[in-house]
Amino acid sequence: MAATAQNMEQLKALIAIFTPPAKAKRTKKVAGTCVKCGSHEHLHRHHITYYPPNIVVLCRLCHSRITGLNTKGSLVAGGNKVTRTEYTNRLRIVLWKWFITNPWPNKRRVSRTEVRSILRGAKFVVELRSTKRSRQHYKRTNDLANQHRTPQFKNHGMLGA
Ligand SMILES: [Zn+2]
Repeated sequence: MAATAQNMEQLKALIAIFTPPAKAKRTKKVAGTCVKCGSHEHLHRHHITYYPPNIVVLCRLCHSRITGLNTKGSLVAGGNKVTRTEYTNRLRIVLWKWFITNPWPNKRRVSRTEVRSILRGAKFVVELRSTKRSRQHYKRTNDLANQHRTPQFKNHGMLGA
């Protein structure tokens, strides 16, 4: 009996070696069809919003398109995922509504100008920094990182002196 139990332990250990790690199991197969194009292949879960979670099934291509649209949308409109959940949700919902009701244009990505016109069409109010100010912001950030040419930094120093 003891020998059998020992064999069982060895067998279990052997099985464990050949069992793929838990991480591999995490990639659960998503069932259903892409809600955008009806594809059955390479299905992903897409969060229309994160808080609260509002999830739909999309194929890989449609998922990459809406994700790109959301990224561009947050660049155009600004937005802060941490402090402005409600604002981000409204932005994501506006872009989702456009995405699900319009055929995707005959190109890989939509431009910022098009995203701006989608937001205007939905009367989405850009409450945070405009794109121009956001460009200035990023420029300032880059300038600060490069301390040799930072006009703001120099002016500040002169005012302080
Ligand atoms: Zn699709």
